Amino acid sequence: MSDDAASLELLRAPVGTHDLLPGASDRWVALLGLFANHAHLYGYGLIQTPLFEDVRLFKRGVGTETEVVGKEMYEFEDRGGRAMALRPEGTASVVRAFLQARPTPPFRAWYAAPIFRYERPQAGRYRQHHQVGIEVLGISDPDVDVEVLGLGIDYLTGLGLQGFTLRLNTLGDSACRPQYLEELRAYFHDHAPELCDEHAAKIDRNPLRILDCKTESCRAVSVGAPSMLDALCVDCGTHFERVKEGLDARGIAYFLDQRLVRGLDYYTRTAFEVTLDLGDGELTLLGGGRYDGLVEVLGGPSTPGIGFGSGIERVLLACDRQGVFAVPPRSPLAYVIDTTDGRAARDLVAELRAGGIATERAYGNRSMKSQFKTADRSGARFALVVGERELESGTVTIRDLRGDGEQLVVLRAEVLSFLSNRTITTPEGSS
Ligand SMILES: [Zn+2]
Ligand SMILES: [Zn+2]
Repeated sequence: MSDDAASLELLRAPVGTHDLLPGASDRWVALLGLFANHAHLYGYGLIQTPLFEDVRLFKRGVGTETEVVGKEMYEFEDRGGRAMALRPEGTASVVRAFLQARPTPPFRAWYAAPIFRYERPQAGRYRQHHQVGIEVLGISDPDVDVEVLGLGIDYLTGLGLQGFTLRLNTLGDSACRPQYLEELRAYFHDHAPELCDEHAAKIDRNPLRILDCKTESCRAVSVGAPSMLDALCVDCGTHFERVKEGLDARGIAYFLDQRLVRGLDYYTRTAFEVTLDLGDGELTLLGGGRYDGLVEVLGGPSTPGIGFGSGIERVLLACDRQGVFAVPPRSPLAYVIDTTDGRAARDLVAELRAGGIATERAYGNRSMKSQFKTADRSGARFALVVGERELESGTVTIRDLRGDGEQLVVLRAEVLSFLSNRTITTPEGSS
């Protein structure tokens, strides 16, 4: 690579990543606020875990057979020779933190976190993407499955999204799944020549994955495969009935999808995804399920768990397609234009900000015309002009930058109260 090419490369975000700049990020702030509000309503507190963990956490907890760990995980050796990995999903770290701190269950946590997967970049898919999600540990009651789903649906609905589909399945548990897997293996062995190459070779290792395969051949064979629903033990059957009853009671529509097995090994019983048909393809907005076996797999005491993760970029892509959740960039209420030496602007801006008024100003003694231009560009509602005349008379000239450009002179001492009243009483767009 030439030096020029190398330095150009330095000026680009790595392939599959993106920057989020001021302006566009206002929508993210609003989305995170919305999610935090819903999480709060449901009794969840924020959790933050490291971006990287011991690689064994993900290998053991998520499984090396999974795409995200087996094929897409960022692994590296740190300077101390430890094998580490960048978090490829949200749940394992939360469970690790729970096991480390041992809080009294039930434990309810929400997160907003970057997730790293080395995959082929495409629309809504990034090597660093971001998820909001929740995890509940210590409750096996099926009513909590309904609450988790309810929070997810409330969040998507709160964004204004419509027409999405909740796909629901149950994966059984250690009492009934092994026998079901045997039936499934036997069925797929009978149809081995019809499966895709990858799965023809993997029937014994993980037959559930075949149900999830996107190739025509595997899909066709899967249609006739035995269903987990017919193989549930009494406890799993009762659990699933109560989940469905709870969703009905909340008026949440769902679609039973026995092909939904999720990509991760630790799921038990309830599994779900919310998808949106975009016409030219399907977008998964949210996915999760119950993982009653995970805590034990990681070496902790038997503890039930359930949660979901939802990709922020994908959800915003869906919002764009549906023309919803268009959060305008936040603009200041006031913009101070000082044609004297800038001291008046310095002091007025400080006073207004201390009084809770979002305020900006120009710097560097620019012309009045140039300052008005930046004031317009800032989106501010009012320009506060201080010139020689205003300084002498102890006033500020306030011009409405929207509407009819109305202008009035206010005593310097009354500017804050004038603007405070305008924030409450002035409807958007009127003067
Ligand atoms: Zn296949
Ligand atoms: Zn069971």
